[in-house]
Amino acid sequence: MPYRVPSRAELQDGTARMTSISIQSVSKSYGAVSVLKGLDLAIGDGEFVSFLGPSGCGKSTLLFCIAGLEEITQGRIMFDDRDVSGLAPRDRNIALVFQDYALYPHMSVRDNLAFPLRQQKVADGLVRKQVDWAAGLLGLEPLLDRSPAELSGGQRQRVAVGRAIVRNPAALLMDEPLSNLDASLRVKTRTEIKRLQRALKTTVVFVTHDQEEAMVLSDRVAVMNDGVLQQFAEPMTIYRQPANLFVAGFIGSPQMNFLAGPDVPGGQGSNRIVGVRPFDLSPAGATGDGFRLTGELALIEPAGPVHYLDVQVGETMIKGTCADPSGLAPGAAMTLEAPGHCLHVFDRDTGLRLAT
Ligand code: ADP
Ligand code: MG
Repeated sequence: MPYRVPSRAELQDGTARMTSISIQSVSKSYGAVSVLKGLDLAIGDGEFVSFLGPSGCGKSTLLFCIAGLEEITQGRIMFDDRDVSGLAPRDRNIALVFQDYALYPHMSVRDNLAFPLRQQKVADGLVRKQVDWAAGLLGLEPLLDRSPAELSGGQRQRVAVGRAIVRNPAALLMDEPLSNLDASLRVKTRTEIKRLQRALKTTVVFVTHDQEEAMVLSDRVAVMNDGVLQQFAEPMTIYRQPANLFVAGFIGSPQMNFLAGPDVPGGQGSNRIVGVRPFDLSPAGATGDGFRLTGELALIEPAGPVHYLDVQVGETMIKGTCADPSGLAPGAAMTLEAPGHCLHVFDRDTGLRLAT
């Protein structure tokens, strides 16, 4: 039995679009190759969740499983309290936005926006109303009679989003939708997407390999590696309390420093790895009871709001930051200090975060 398609009345007042998504012990294999390995995730109604991880870790595959474009090998996927695991994509009432926007090139913007509604055989008057609503929301009114070829990359992206939301989907699934845009447009467009989602309160699942994009957009981020969920939490929880070494190294730029073995002060022979973020590590003052590392200053890198300081500590090159590097010179001895509460301690064998 198909997932409920919204009635015309619901389309008009927008009440059809609330859905929670529950992914339960989902595995996916292609032949002998296991791509998703027993994932559990509960995405709330109206929540903005990102799937974040390196290329090839299974983000798109999981998104396609939610959409019904890929069949799952094990487990089940629930929309609210309905098992949709066996349903065809068209029966799930979700909308997808891909990296290549796949607009119909021979249709105007207006007809591109109207297409999903026409397919649903929605009456002309309501099609017009919904298209005007989406166009207004996304600032597309002046472009309605153009063809996709006459649009910029950012405008095409907005039309793709408009086409996805025009029929009030229960959930909006986006697979790296910003990666074809240049850097400044990406930042502008992601802000638009976040504002749009706040206004619509639609459940959004957003796939990206860009940790900053995931952090700024999401209510919660699901960090994945090699088909396994690493951590699912609010952005600042993932930043401040990464659950394991993988998450610690993947989140934050520049990357967290890691010290092992003899380079951990007092940590000789220990099975602990200590992590500290460059932004928590700055030149030590005359007094202080923080975590200190001493080495030779190798390089000063100006980066605008801060300068990065590369300090050779034993075998490890450590990156710290400072606002004003005057008086510092490469080749000199340098002590960096971080407040004790900024240290992250991990078990070297399991990679898991240890209580500090
Ligand atoms: P991501 O979106 O995180 O970059 P994908 O979900 O696209 O990763 O792919 C995850 C893994 O599954 C990759 O190793 C990829 O090669 C593999 N894969 C994806 N689709 C297929 C397929 N149709 N057949 C075999 N392997 C596939
Ligand atoms: Mg992908």
